Amino acid sequence: MILPPNLRPQQHRCATKPAPLSPAMDSKTRSLMPPSSRRHRSLALAVLFALLTPIIHAQKTATTQFSGQAAYTLTKQLLDVAPKRFNGSPGHAKAEEFLKQHFAPEAAKGNFVADTFTATTPAGLQTMTNYIVKYPGKKDGIIVLVSHYETNYPLRDINFYGANDGAATSALLIEIGTILRAHPPEGYCIWLVFDDGEEAVKTWSNSDSLYGTRHLAAKWSQDGTLTKIKALLVADMIADKDLNIDYVENSTPWLLDLLKVAAKNTGHSASIFKYREAEEDDHLPFAARGVPVLDLIDAHYGPTTDAMPDGYHHTDKDTLDKISAHSLQISGDIFLEMIRLINQRP
Ligand SMILES: [Zn+2]
Repeated sequence: MILPPNLRPQQHRCATKPAPLSPAMDSKTRSLMPPSSRRHRSLALAVLFALLTPIIHAQKTATTQFSGQAAYTLTKQLLDVAPKRFNGSPGHAKAEEFLKQHFAPEAAKGNFVADTFTATTPAGLQTMTNYIVKYPGKKDGIIVLVSHYETNYPLRDINFYGANDGAATSALLIEIGTILRAHPPEGYCIWLVFDDGEEAVKTWSNSDSLYGTRHLAAKWSQDGTLTKIKALLVADMIADKDLNIDYVENSTPWLLDLLKVAAKNTGHSASIFKYREAEEDDHLPFAARGVPVLDLIDAHYGPTTDAMPDGYHHTDKDTLDKISAHSLQISGDIFLEMIRLINQRP
């Protein structure tokens, strides 16, 4: 059920426990799809810095800084234990265990939530699980960062590891979580979402894709969570060695504007907006319900050839050697700066 927003003052801002929330809203964002079955999601935003006080700012050094190398190492560790993470596979279970281990401190506080559901797919019913990690803040509202962690069911018979497509962005969020654990948000709450079933089970379509985020958006609409979300940032394929984060037209305009500012502030302007397109990605189920969204994705991954018209995307070439700590550094810097900028908005 849904309660009006102001029933409770301070403590229920974002929530670790079921909080009273207001009704969800509705709106829509168009998704113009790019050719084929690619979608991506990405971005995510970030965090922490949000409203650090001047005093804290003075000592904003290593511990509050994103480490691209740490994120890269986490990517490698995830790929080592769970190279193939398609629905129902042993690797998928190991990826889930990887997340549980990393967020044991949050779980102990009740801030690590498993959202398990049954998806109806072209391959029959499949059990899927989104994981949500919550870092309470001091302002009323939530910034959500999203990455999918599974790999494609249709690619289960090839050596598809999704180093860039799923693994690296999950690692990016884990690294942000490590920072937030030591330095809880001074501004809005930050929630990390590791979603399942982003990929198509057979062929990409509105009904065969984005299982996890469609489920979560509907759930958060019902319980009122959506009305508290200030921004939702999706991270997808943004560890590519040759990084350039796209201008994703079906993101929310003010967040695209903020991305430009964040890139400038962090010295990474050369790493954004080389390409412009709409994307089908995990931002769409939330955009359709009126949430401000930003899809941070680099959909141009590797050289394209007749044999590989989509570059390394969804091929056995999406491996650790195609990504870099440097690109993860750029993406991480931008995410943290986005969080800071979102917190500064009136
Ligand atoms: Zn993919």
